[in-house]
Parts: sequence; structure tokens; C-alpha cells
Amino acid sequence: MSTHLNEYSFYSDVKKNFEKAAKFTKIDKGILDTIIVCNSVYRMRFPLKRDDGSVEVIEAYRVQHSHHKEPCKGGIRFSENVTQDEVMALAALMTFKCAIVNVPFGGGKGGIKINPKFYSRYELEKITRRYTAELVKKNFIGPGCDVPAPDYGTGEREMGWIFDTYTSLKTGEVNAMACVTGKPLALGGVRGRKEATGMGVFFGVREVCRNEKLMKKVGLTTGIAGKKIIIQGLGNVGYHSAKYFRENGAIIIAIAEYEGAIFNPNGLNEEEVFQHRKNTKSILNFPGAKNIENSNDALELEADIFIPAALENVVNKDNAPRLKVKIIGEAANGPLTPEADEILNAKGVLVVPDMYLNAGGVTVSYFEWVKNLSHVRHGRLQKQFTENTNLTIIKELELLNGGKPLDDKARRTIAHGPDEIDLVHSGLEETMITATNEILKIWEEQPEIPDMRTASFIVAINKIASTYDELGIFP
Ligand code: NAD
Repeated sequence: MSTHLNEYSFYSDVKKNFEKAAKFTKIDKGILDTIIVCNSVYRMRFPLKRDDGSVEVIEAYRVQHSHHKEPCKGGIRFSENVTQDEVMALAALMTFKCAIVNVPFGGGKGGIKINPKFYSRYELEKITRRYTAELVKKNFIGPGCDVPAPDYGTGEREMGWIFDTYTSLKTGEVNAMACVTGKPLALGGVRGRKEATGMGVFFGVREVCRNEKLMKKVGLTTGIAGKKIIIQGLGNVGYHSAKYFRENGAIIIAIAEYEGAIFNPNGLNEEEVFQHRKNTKSILNFPGAKNIENSNDALELEADIFIPAALENVVNKDNAPRLKVKIIGEAANGPLTPEADEILNAKGVLVVPDMYLNAGGVTVSYFEWVKNLSHVRHGRLQKQFTENTNLTIIKELELLNGGKPLDDKARRTIAHGPDEIDLVHSGLEETMITATNEILKIWEEQPEIPDMRTASFIVAINKIASTYDELGIFP
């Protein structure tokens, strides 16, 4: 590993959380060791010929943390901060995340140590394609072994390049489309990926808020309607989380961005705020809202739920004691430092952990992979059949009702056969409901488990251990 003594190690942090949870399981030490180690780490260096003719060496990684389920799955990030340690930690977290939401993958992660802002589009394309070619050489990419996705600094465009490079090198491979997810629709992407993480955050928190015992413990009534929410970060995840909370009756009282925050006790509409920010280049001075110049002050407002959806470590030992919310839904990865986590748990704040709460993205990536392997759009075979069946039922009901026809709107709603987007949304909803209840069940059965994060880890460890148990050990 590239870390030295005294150097911060993200992977060691993940290991500590894992060990804290492992104490509550009955799993053999050897199996626990097998679960936490990274199975394969591919560290590569390759040259890039820059637009000005100079040559630069690029540092990159792909880590396959666990092969207990295959393929491995996890994003590729472009960032100056990429290290082997970071990629290993993120790959390990993917293993646990997938296990919790019952997505049948092992964890993986990739990283290229560059700041994409300093490279032209053509240079980025060359880096992405060469990286993919290196992965192909070593069998670190493929529908059955390792399936990357977007992460920090990458998106649909890069996934398109990866797909094209892979198919160019693997001509005739019938399932090649499933070698990467997060692709544009035209290249086999799935509908519903963009909103997936924010929507998953909403479904997860909604399920937690349905639990009477938990709500009593934190001093709230059940349900989402009327709850006051603070959102940090109006990017992809923050915007979509805010949208679903608001549409379900919650009141978004504050939105924090890096230039400042705005507050309106009567509620903010995320789309209007987004347009205002786009037009004025700032979230501040939104009509009807009060400006909060220091963005972080918004986190300390009186509210029921705080959704951090920006960066890591935004709540630390300094501001954690001043937070007044009852629930924190970790939409971002790692928004709480370990110290903040302890302080908030001691205060009785319910922290719904990132590891499963923001799993909507990987869940819908799974649906994309399944779509690519089945070579048919979700819903294509069922939609018309379902509509025809529903229309027959409607006709029978109308006959029973003395021939009185249903009004057009009701007829359309009842007859509607599922489109891809309906299936993706309902699949995600089911996934988040099931995962939340699995975690809450184990927490309720073992009250000595200190927090929901530990309970989530326990769920993951138990599932992975039982797979290893059934697989046996080769040879
Ligand atoms: P994004 O870049 O679309 O949005 C992040 C937003 O946070 C931006 O609008 C940015 O201006 C804002 N921001 C930056 N610094 C801030 C600060 N100091 N205070 C307030 N706001 C600040 O990113 P995203 O895709 O929405 O991801 C947000 C978080 O969710 C990240 O931690 C990411 O790892 C995590 N996540 C994202 C996904 C996904 O599908 N996009 C999946 C899982 C986890």
C-alpha cells in the first residue's frame, strides 16, 4: 500500500468501521480477514502524448475488492487526489454497499490521478481509452468480471468512450454492452439513472420515518409530510433529494451551496432555486428567502432532517455539537468525520449512513447491466400485454357498474402498462425499502449495536460471509 506510517489512510478507517461491526457477528476470524482484504489491485502507469507534443506519465488504478460475487462493480474517478489507498477504501465500501442493497456484485473502484480541468477533450479521451485498453489486457474489465461506472470527474461521455474502446478490442462479444454502466441512452444506458441516488435517499429516509419506535426515540412523528429539511449541495443528488422530499409534503427550509445559503421557513422550491442560481450565478438573493452568508451556518438551523449532499467531512467535531436536527440522511459519501459521528450519536441524532442510503446509483446501474445482458428495454415485452389485460378488467368493471364508463383520466391511469422508467423507479423503491428494514431489524434485535452505520455493516458482513460459506474455498 502506498501509505506510510503516520499518514492518513482512508482504507484503515474503513477497516476500523468494519472491525467495530464484526464484533457483533459470530463469523470466524479467517473469513472476516478474507472479507476485508482487497483481492486484486492493479496499479498502472502509461504515457500520454499531450496536444503540445510533450509526453506525460499517467498514474492510474483499478481495485477489485471482493470476488465473492462477480462481476466487480464500481466507479472510475478522475481526481488529483487519487491514491492507491483511496481506491482500495472506495472499492471495499462498494462491496458492502452492494451487499446491503442486494445487488449481486463484488466491490470495485478505479481512479486516474489527473485534474480533468487541465486536459483537453481529446487528451481526456486518449487517457480514458488507454486506461480501458490496459484494463482489457489484464482482464480487469468485462460484463462478467468487472464493470466500471461514472464517479467523481467522470460521466456519460467517458462511459461512452470506455464502451467504444472495449467493443473495438473485443469484436463480436455479444454481451459487450454490459462492460460499463452509466452510458448514454443511445449506447444502452437506462432511464432513471440521473435521479436514482437522490430518489434512493428519499425512499430510505421515508422508510426510516415510517418506523414508529425510531421516530419516538428521536422525538418526531412518523411520516415525511410537514418535516423541515435542510439540504446541503444543489448538485445532482441534492437537487433530486430535495425534489422528492418536497413533492411528498416536506418543507425545504434551507439550501446551502458553497457561495452561501438561503432560508425560508415556508419552504423553497428546488427547481426555482436551481434556475435562480443558473441565471444569477449564485444561490443568494432568492426572492422571499433570507440570505445566510456563511453557508455552514445553515447546517445549524432548527429543523428535523439534514441531508448533506455535497462533500465529505462537512460535519466535524467543531460544528457537530451545534447541529439541531433529529435525523441526518447521508446522501454524500463521508459527510461526517468519525468524531462528529460519535458526538451526534451521543446526542441521540439518528444518522442514516451513506453506505446504503446513497446506493440508488449502483442499484440502477445494476438495472442497466441486466438490460444490456437481456438485450431488451425493460418493460418492452410486458407493457402492451399489461395494458390489454387492464383494459379487459376495466370493461368488466364498467359492465358490473351498469355500463357507466370510467372517466378518461382514471381509465388511462388504471390501464397504464409499465415503461422502463416506471420499472426502474419501482425497483429502486423496493430495494431501498427492503434494505432499510433489514438494517432496522438487526438493530432492533441487538440493541447493543451502537448506531445504524454499525448495523448496516453487520448486514453486509453477514451476507458476504454466508456467500463465502456456501462457496467453500478453492482448491
Ligand atoms: P455534484 O457535483 O452534482 O453536486 C455537488 C454540489 O455541492 C455542487 O452543486 C457544489 O456546488 C456543492 N458544494 C460544493 N461544496 C460545497 C460546500 N462547501 N457547501 C455547500 N455546497 C457545496 O455531485 P453529486 O453527484 O450530487 O454528488 C454529491 C455527493 O453525493 C458526493 O459526495 C458524491 O460522492 C455522492 N454520491 C453521488 C452519487 C451520484 O449518483 N451522483 C452516488 C453516490 C454518492
